[in-house]
Amino acid sequence: MNKKIISCAICGAETTREHNPHLPITPRELAEAAYDAYKAGAAIIHLHVRDKEGKATQDLETFKKTISLIQDKCDVIIEVTTGGAVGMTDEERLEVVSLNPEMASLDCGTMNFGNEYILNTLPVMRQFALSMKERGIRPTLECFDLSHVYAAQTLINEGLVEEPFHFSFVLGVPGGVRYDVETLDHMVRRIPVGSDWTVIGIGGRASLDAHYGAISLGGHIRVGFEDNVYYSKGVLAESNAQLVERAVRIIKEAGFTHSSPADVRTQLKLRGVEV
Ligand code: ZN
Repeated sequence: MNKKIISCAICGAETTREHNPHLPITPRELAEAAYDAYKAGAAIIHLHVRDKEGKATQDLETFKKTISLIQDKCDVIIEVTTGGAVGMTDEERLEVVSLNPEMASLDCGTMNFGNEYILNTLPVMRQFALSMKERGIRPTLECFDLSHVYAAQTLINEGLVEEPFHFSFVLGVPGGVRYDVETLDHMVRRIPVGSDWTVIGIGGRASLDAHYGAISLGGHIRVGFEDNVYYSKGVLAESNAQLVERAVRIIKEAGFTHSSPADVRTQLKLRGVEV
């Protein structure tokens, strides 16, 4: 596979303007950031939304408005979060799939999240996976831990997640597994052969290291303010697009090209945007 997918997580649930003053928050700002990331080379936008105070919300109207503003500008693929934020109920997190996005994240287990925790039991994961399957939404199987890889395999074995599989290894969350290339390699070897995967390295060092780890082990790249607000040590990124631009350069230097949204729709067999 000569093409590498760039996903961009433009705001996340936890990042604030104190972390980086360029964080997009309102639907209009999110759409602008998504469009700039798309122009720079991102094929997938991983989307969280915020309320008027800038706090993470799963409010359907805010999602709807943001998605429609993005779709007015470009045909980038939208992957909505169903991880939401710490403290949200399962129902709150899942409701956004009713908007029928092409993709959605699916957290594959329970774990520490800094001083908090995220809770995903197998029955909850089955419910999320089934909802996505019924709607033709491609899940991104987010694995924060090796046990999550096996839990994802359980969903696959039960027919709740179908091929082609798209995994995302989330490494570097405080209290969780840290990023290093040996750990990544170990996890990658335990997903079904032929799966597509990306790495979410949390923090500047892990995020950039993960670009190179992913390229060398056959994966794709994720960037964005959800994972990392820095361009280099002590230097804040000016925009999500700036992080995408660097990913494009790394992909090119490694002898690959970055995927367009159309490439990804074919590769991951997405159902396309409903009009
Ligand atoms: Zn997210």
